[in-house]
Amino acid sequence: MGTTILETTVNTLPAMVIAIDGPAGAGKSTVARAVAGEIGFTYLDSGAMYRCVALAALERGQSLADGDGLGVLAEGLEIGFDGPRVLLGERDVSREIRSPAVTAAASRVSVHPRVRAAMVGRQQHLIGTGSYVAEGRDIGTVVSPDSPLKVFLTASDEERARRRAAETGEAVEAVLEAQRSRDASDTEREHGALRSAADAVELDTSSLSLEEVVAWIVNLARQRGLV
Ligand code: C5P
Repeated sequence: MGTTILETTVNTLPAMVIAIDGPAGAGKSTVARAVAGEIGFTYLDSGAMYRCVALAALERGQSLADGDGLGVLAEGLEIGFDGPRVLLGERDVSREIRSPAVTAAASRVSVHPRVRAAMVGRQQHLIGTGSYVAEGRDIGTVVSPDSPLKVFLTASDEERARRRAAETGEAVEAVLEAQRSRDASDTEREHGALRSAADAVELDTSSLSLEEVVAWIVNLARQRGLV
């Protein structure tokens, strides 16, 4: 009986998604995590899921051009989140999925429709269970088009590369180069391309602090009566 009550409570929670999309290095992850913490929603890092597919493909030596093979792989993977930890099966892959090799491979595996369908399905399932701040490239356009608040974060190329380099310890020039190729792949792909939803609010974060961006989004959520 206790279980029934618990299930009822969980199922009647309004599932709501604040969607935060934008290119690599625009500050999405840090901002989305902080917004989620402030308003008591759960944070979803959709990029981590594509990174898990990329890591698994690299480890198995699978071709990054084989869309069907990667689709089968993606459909079979057990990807989980435990607070800030990203799990592939039982294994904590939080660090490995951030390596430059996995980063480059993630934008290649994510072009394949079958990989995207598998990831989008899981993301929709997850966000249907509660209130989320979900972050990625296609949250507002594909994963959660009915989201009541969609934010599209941008920043100049140089600023995005500088931020990423400070995080990973790589040279800014190297990050800028890799970023250009990821940007091109993310915006030009046929499925789930990076673009701002028609009803998204755009914010250039180049000269803003993390606190300013977070406050701006939380404020919007309040104005819209979401929190
Ligand atoms: O956001 P992050 O940099 O971790 O994403 C890694 C890669 O996963 C991106 O370069 C992008 O190609 C892909 N991705 C995607 N759709 C998302 C999130 C990430 O295609 N919703």
